[in-house]
Amino acid sequence: MTATRVLVLNSGSSSLKYQLLDMADGSKLATGLVERIGEAASRCVHTLLAHGGSTRDSTREQSGHIADHAAALKAIAAELDADGLGLDSPELAAIGHRVVHGGLRFTAPTVVDDAVLQEIERLVPVAPLHNPANIIGIRTARELRPDLPQVAVFDTAFHTTMPESAARYAIDVETADAHRIRRYGFHGTSHAYVSRKTAALLGRTPDEVNVIVLHLGNGASASAVAGGVCVDTSMGLTPLEGLVMGTRSGDIDPAVIFHLTRVAGMSVDEIDALLNKKSGLVGLCGDNDMREIVRRMDEGDRRAELAFAIYIHRLKKYIGAYTAVLGRVDAVAFTAGVGENSAPVRAAAVAGLDGLGLAVDAGLNAVRSDKARLISPEGSRVAVAVVPTDEEREIAQQVYALVND
Ligand code: AMP
Repeated sequence: MTATRVLVLNSGSSSLKYQLLDMADGSKLATGLVERIGEAASRCVHTLLAHGGSTRDSTREQSGHIADHAAALKAIAAELDADGLGLDSPELAAIGHRVVHGGLRFTAPTVVDDAVLQEIERLVPVAPLHNPANIIGIRTARELRPDLPQVAVFDTAFHTTMPESAARYAIDVETADAHRIRRYGFHGTSHAYVSRKTAALLGRTPDEVNVIVLHLGNGASASAVAGGVCVDTSMGLTPLEGLVMGTRSGDIDPAVIFHLTRVAGMSVDEIDALLNKKSGLVGLCGDNDMREIVRRMDEGDRRAELAFAIYIHRLKKYIGAYTAVLGRVDAVAFTAGVGENSAPVRAAAVAGLDGLGLAVDAGLNAVRSDKARLISPEGSRVAVAVVPTDEEREIAQQVYALVND
């Protein structure tokens, strides 16, 4: 029997999300998550998806104490087992792990061995919030299935093609190099997947098109992709740089930090929390859900209007900047929670950019769909697309291609 299934794990500090895919036909077999790991009331939600044998989705939910990631993965394994999809199945080809930071060392998906795990650990100082949880996920899965290829897929990998002119900060080179300070970028699997899908939507191959990808979720980032290769992206050393996000400020004068230290007496940790958790849309208007912000705007709420205006202003600046970086743009693609669902954001981001060849058709923009689609008027110089992202599918594809190489 050929092993064609890939289990994708996305391990956070207190959660473990998973999807099981069958790469023989690309179908998704099961999905779920364990959250609040380590708390008294952890929650495990498992969904067996409609495929082959089963005709509709069925979900089981349990709560109770799940002590750590090892126990969480065992709970997931038990759920999969109950559906005949157990981790000891000979059909399982590999386990793919989303790893946030791969530094400059990891430019492609990588089979994990002890040396690779050590390298990922070495990157903890540049990704203190993310890599430790990813490492726990990998360790746990290796213990459960030591014989199976465990493959790390890095959020930063797609951006390692950025030229030095885009990746370097204009600071003292020795200091930057000593502390590995440069722009790495994140959401790479999403930018890779969406830029490829956008090319396909245009009936072209990725090397033929230049695309600006706007990944607008709770975290948000833009990228400039020239002929399938990333040449610039808005996140930097950490996911704090760039666009206005749900709770992160995005671009800011670094002197704000000195000012808050000197004048407001705030500590580094307090400022870190301010910029990462209490800024962005939530800092500006108290809400980070775009649905709620648009609803409040409809009621004439001034703070919601201002938050929306700042969010859109930043987005426009990046569209303009990446148009200049690329020279010629074939498509702008909106993706992730806000990009896929918020017609008002898409309309406002493109409004007034006809000079750049950009426009949306109001009727097409208003259509709700989970399919990749064009929303620009027929004959537009630059296509505007909505392309649902699928990071798990991209990870599974990369993992499967690697283990079958
Ligand atoms: P993500 O991080 O990609 O899961 O995106 C989450 C964000 O998407 C939420 O915080 C909302 O702001 C936004 N979102 C989700 N659904 C909608 C919707 N129907 N309309 C507008 N925004 C949405």
